[in-house]
Amino acid sequence: MFDNSQETKTNLSELGEFGLIDHLTKNFAPKLESTKKAIGDDAAVLDFEDMQCIVTTDLLVEGVHFDLSYMPLKHLGYKAVMVNASDIYAMNGKATQITVSIAVSNRFPVEALEELYAGIQLASQIYNIDVVGGDTTSSTSGLVISITALGQAKAENITYRNGAKPNDLLVVSGDLGAAYMGLQILEREKQVFKANPNAQPDLDQYTYLIERQLKPEARKDIPPLLKELDVKPTSMIDISDGLSSEVIHLCKNSKTGVNLFEEKIPLNPAVISVCEEFDIDSTTIALSGGEDYELLFTISQDDHDKIKGNPNMTVIGHMTEENEGMHLITRANTKIPLIARGWNSMEKEEEED
Ligand code: ADP
Ligand code: MG
Repeated sequence: MFDNSQETKTNLSELGEFGLIDHLTKNFAPKLESTKKAIGDDAAVLDFEDMQCIVTTDLLVEGVHFDLSYMPLKHLGYKAVMVNASDIYAMNGKATQITVSIAVSNRFPVEALEELYAGIQLASQIYNIDVVGGDTTSSTSGLVISITALGQAKAENITYRNGAKPNDLLVVSGDLGAAYMGLQILEREKQVFKANPNAQPDLDQYTYLIERQLKPEARKDIPPLLKELDVKPTSMIDISDGLSSEVIHLCKNSKTGVNLFEEKIPLNPAVISVCEEFDIDSTTIALSGGEDYELLFTISQDDHDKIKGNPNMTVIGHMTEENEGMHLITRANTKIPLIARGWNSMEKEEEED
């Protein structure tokens, strides 16, 4: 992606490791009060006062998690921050700091890393996150990015996967399946481009889907919204692998069953029409697609009125006793067992072997 579009190419060796770190991190002045010391010492120092500290980390490997032939580096940087922030929001917390570690081969010029860091910077500005450190090393082949995110929450507000009770309502933010269909569109265009490099793709009608794939937004707004509505979710998880897989995680951790209603699953009209075009079932995509970075949570029935009609949230089912099992209730009103067929880079690799 960067090969054609970059004019100047500065070899990494021109800056050296420390020069590169200084160059990439020069715009990361800390903005949060909890950041006592950011980049530039042996370690960062954070102060969360009476809050608990939430930590999560994710590793992204070129060729496994991203493909630079259609993922611009700026988007990759943005998405890498989102993936981590989403995990903090899924604990009902506020994301505050990240560290960014990269391994790069000398196939990447300095300008490519500037793009990556422009995406990281944009995300950290919009989401009010400080970049407080990282590590930089060389790699013999591709690009590897590891981000660790830190966050804070009051102990009584932290929401785990294991607190759902039978009869609790199952709720999801936003809509599902768009990121996966965005990926299908990008992969199709890549094949078209391979066959005919002069083809001019018209992607206008797929803008929403492609944006959901290339520039996902984590649900920073949901924890404060729930607080404002005076709703404490009983369990919560973010949707990275697909709805069915995440619902199953909540059930297994909480020792409950579930009834999930197909007709309630929120779908954007763009997902419905592209599924028709690809002749695939939109429910399957919502259940198994993944990378939506929406939040899935359960609330007590008593809190239903507080969220009713809120455009950010949809009730899609309810929890049951564990021995009742985990089921999808279809539009035809048949009950079928819910199975996890989430997108998983490990499984994908095994299939290919
Ligand atoms: P050390 O030798 O202790 O590992 P480094 O020279 O790797 O220290 O890092 C110097 C400072 O720059 C530290 O604050 C570190 O957290 C930060 N840092 C290093 N690499 C990155 C990076 N890729 N992105 C952001 N910060 C970085
Ligand atoms: Mg280091």
